[in-house]
Amino acid sequence: MIEIDFKNILENSTQAVAAVNFDDSIVYANKYFCSLFSMAKEEVESKCLGDFLPKDKDTVQIKDYTYKITKFEDEYYTYFYLSLSDTQMEKIYSDFISTVSHELRTPLTSIRGFADTMLASFDKLDKNQIQKFLNIIKEQSNRLIKLVENLLSVSRSQVEQSNFVYKSINPKIQIEKAMDIIKNQYPSHVFELKCSSDVQNLLADENKFQQIMINLLDNAAKYSYDRGSVTVRVSNSAQKENFVSIKVEDHGVGIDPENMSKIFEKFARIENHLTRKTQGSGLGLYIVKNLIEKMGGQIFVESSTVLPNSGSTFEILLPAASYTNQSKKVLEDK
Ligand code: ADP
Repeated sequence: MIEIDFKNILENSTQAVAAVNFDDSIVYANKYFCSLFSMAKEEVESKCLGDFLPKDKDTVQIKDYTYKITKFEDEYYTYFYLSLSDTQMEKIYSDFISTVSHELRTPLTSIRGFADTMLASFDKLDKNQIQKFLNIIKEQSNRLIKLVENLLSVSRSQVEQSNFVYKSINPKIQIEKAMDIIKNQYPSHVFELKCSSDVQNLLADENKFQQIMINLLDNAAKYSYDRGSVTVRVSNSAQKENFVSIKVEDHGVGIDPENMSKIFEKFARIENHLTRKTQGSGLGLYIVKNLIEKMGGQIFVESSTVLPNSGSTFEILLPAASYTNQSKKVLEDK
């Protein structure tokens, strides 16, 4: 006999799904539904369907896209499925292609240009010029590597749910490692790590944790001006027992309140003084949020653009390793 794990199928569906009781209260919402409305699962599941979807309509506009609403009933609940029409899927696909091709073409053109210049006039260039050109080629190659890693990570996270290797990791050692990589890329910035002495180890996948920290530190430096300071504070969370809090704090351009929920979306790049100058694909925070949530954690952001250099603080909470049983449960419930 085939056992069907209905909840697992719903949870990983490519449609947003909510199951509703006879009184319109939501009893279940899948990951996609919660991320569409940028809300935590517990929050969605404490609300009514009317708070999210219009009554008696078969489409709904969410952010930039129109979703078709399909209803299905069983003997217990009514299920609402939100799916994108073919035209909307085409739009997402073409937005994706144009972002990716732009992001690939720009560094490649620059690498080829500098290599051509060096080949054509190698004898006329002095040592400093050659060093400068090689540095640009290296920087642009790093940009390509980061984009390809992010793209692979997005497609992997959509197909694979279980390639996480959990172990007890020391946050201080891991953050220092990530900081060293980023320091190298932003030599004029000041990086500081403040770790409370009693901080617990994390229960997390080491590579994924590195990817999270590198993306957050890279953003903190990228969206700050030269000589900007980036501070990472690590402590046991005061809000959530058995969780470790990691705050990445910068004094850069900040984020407007109306853009706060958009920054975690796929390919979202928000205009600011530095986005035009800086490189990026809008995938970093989407991946970061995804990885943190898969490891049983949460991410929050506080930011302001009111005062110059008021900056942003990204806080992540991840389960502590010493409470393995409890942490395991958090992960199993995911
Ligand atoms: P990318 O940096 O490649 O554009 P991300 O997904 O990492 O993509 O970030 C999405 C957007 O969020 C950025 O385009 C930027 O506008 C904003 N952002 C992210 N981190 C910061 C930060 N520390 N300070 C200000 N803005 C930020």
